[in-house]
Amino acid sequence: LTSRLQRFGTTIFTEMSALSLRHDAVNLGQGFPDFDAPAALTEAAQRAIGEGRNQYAPGNGIPALRRAVAEHAARHHGLTYDPDTEVTVTTGATEALFATLNALCDVGDEVVVIEPAFDVYPAAASMAGAVVKGVPLRPDEVNGGWRLDTGDLVAATSRATRAIIINTPMNPLGKTFSDQELELVVKVAGALDAVIISDEVYEHMVFDGPHRSICHVPGARERTVRISSAAKTFSVTGWKVGWACAPPELTDAIRAAKQWTTFTSGTPLQHAVAEALVWDDTYVEDMAADYLRRRDLLCEALDRIGFGVTVPDGTFFVACDIRPLGFDDDMAFCNRLPEAVGVGAIPIQVFHTDPMAHTGLARFAFCKTDEALAEGIARLEA
Ligand code: PMP
Ligand code: GLN
Repeated sequence: LTSRLQRFGTTIFTEMSALSLRHDAVNLGQGFPDFDAPAALTEAAQRAIGEGRNQYAPGNGIPALRRAVAEHAARHHGLTYDPDTEVTVTTGATEALFATLNALCDVGDEVVVIEPAFDVYPAAASMAGAVVKGVPLRPDEVNGGWRLDTGDLVAATSRATRAIIINTPMNPLGKTFSDQELELVVKVAGALDAVIISDEVYEHMVFDGPHRSICHVPGARERTVRISSAAKTFSVTGWKVGWACAPPELTDAIRAAKQWTTFTSGTPLQHAVAEALVWDDTYVEDMAADYLRRRDLLCEALDRIGFGVTVPDGTFFVACDIRPLGFDDDMAFCNRLPEAVGVGAIPIQVFHTDPMAHTGLARFAFCKTDEALAEGIARLEA
């Protein structure tokens, strides 16, 4: 194993899900729904397979899906993309991130990630030969939650900064970035002529008003790769259908990398997602309302149990402070929880370049059935 991979070990999601399975725990760790996808979507995939749509799709994605991605971005977010020159279908948002970073980074280039950062960012940047610069968020003493500090972001950048990755709503904290924070990222990226990689896979899980894409900030759209996927929106994390939307020059670069990673992505699933993306708004509205209900159910229980709960503005995760319960090290806590209590969670320290400086937060997922949430809560309470 190369040194650039060695230090990343096994992803925490694999480790913690295995632990949950071993101890027959309720897995509130890894973020995947334990309920099925909409029937209309799974039927569309079965239809596509039955109709013989089983050979290589065009490398950039089938035209119907690229059109649907563009239509969806326009209808839900008021963002305009040309399906032919600005949309690329990828094997999940994960490949969009990998292809983008490998297309853009030369060895020694720097990639700035806002921490706690989804673990794919540093690993993919490192595989591209880039150096990762972490910017830890600070506790927001005024509004609660966490905030991006101007000085911290500036300090993490240099003339070698090639890209800044922002994820809003943000895994694992459930934070949505304010307009001021998004403007700060655009200002800093603009001054360095860096690319913004905007991971918006939780775009439809926003509880405090409409989703704010960084692409709306003046000066952002022309330097931003906007990434999303079907995984969360349609409860199909196993499908791995994602996309990257970016100006033509950046799109050409992403496509150049994508052709050598997977060449093309699963054909019948692309046909199905193309249908779902243009469903009317009630689907995503109902889903968001349902997640809001699950969020409140879990947050109220965790608060009652004694965790320090920061109610998330988005995603299907809640980050909890374990210190009010007398614990300190979230890694040790999450390692013990499945066996001791019968519940799985994710330690947040692993999402920091300097883990031990940021211990004490555990992440619970509420993309789970009412029965699973109730059972998990009952076990934690007991
Ligand atoms: N980005 C974030 C922030 C995520 O939480 C996930 C979840 N897996 C992904 C990207 C990857 O999405 P996909 O399954 O479409 O590759
Ligand atoms: N995004 C999922 C989570 O945060 C896990 C995806 C993965 O295993 N990479 O739980």
